[in-house]
Amino acid sequence: MNFLKTTLVLLFVTSALIAQEKASDAQNLVKVSDHIYMLQDKGGNIGLSFGDDGIFMIDDQFDENIEKTQATIAAIDKQSVQFLVNTHHHGDHTGGNVAMAQTGTVIFSQENVRKRLEAAIAESEDVDSKKSLPMITFNEDMTFYYNNDQIFVFHVHNAHTDGDAMVYFMDSNVIHTGDVFFNGRYPFIDLKSGGSILGYAEALSRLLILTNDETKVIPGHGDLATTKDVMFTRDMLLDLHQQVSALQKAGKTEEEILNMASITKKYDDLGFGTGFISAKRMLQTVYADVTK
Ligand SMILES: [Zn+2]
Repeated sequence: MNFLKTTLVLLFVTSALIAQEKASDAQNLVKVSDHIYMLQDKGGNIGLSFGDDGIFMIDDQFDENIEKTQATIAAIDKQSVQFLVNTHHHGDHTGGNVAMAQTGTVIFSQENVRKRLEAAIAESEDVDSKKSLPMITFNEDMTFYYNNDQIFVFHVHNAHTDGDAMVYFMDSNVIHTGDVFFNGRYPFIDLKSGGSILGYAEALSRLLILTNDETKVIPGHGDLATTKDVMFTRDMLLDLHQQVSALQKAGKTEEEILNMASITKKYDDLGFGTGFISAKRMLQTVYADVTK
């Protein structure tokens, strides 16, 4: 593909799609760099890189919107997606895997993602669900050289789950965080799947070491962000963890802590509790983490 021509077509398609979005329930396609896009709909944000090598995709939301996603991708580039990374196992990030595998896409993930998907499939009666498994897994990290980018995919430990990966397009200076970052909202931290408050904060610190002030951050949920937003969330989690552990050590009960609006007030005032994790639910998670 001629890249300049592709870029012009992309610009046209993007504005057409955004215009269409207002009229219907079309997906919101956000241009992040000259060839990287963020696709927002129900479920986790999708990342897409288009170029001469092909299409590289991050996450695929729910099964129910995968056809719409495939149509949005095809409007930009008719090729099938060559690589798809699952940032973790949750269904709002992996639900489209069966449909994607059917088009020849190679799916990869951290090894715990495959293990957790396998466990879920073992309990399911859907014969097709096996096709949703990543074919390639890695333990710590892997690197792709694709569409003029060095793409560094790295595992962060016990953050949102025990299988999280972030995807850093080093040449474009764009990073997709998976659910290890919710922009401007309290994050869901899946303690039952190996997530933890301090692991989550540490993962964000690792992101901050790798990136710089110009880096564009595609969050798992929410709008495009900067590293400043990431730093704010990291500091918020450390603050909540510190406050709740001090209160718990001082003998406060869970109920007493959950009813102290002052703990989260600073963040509530900025709208952090307006997503699917309320201030109370956030405090519940921090309390459960501190006392586990
Ligand atoms: Zn998730």
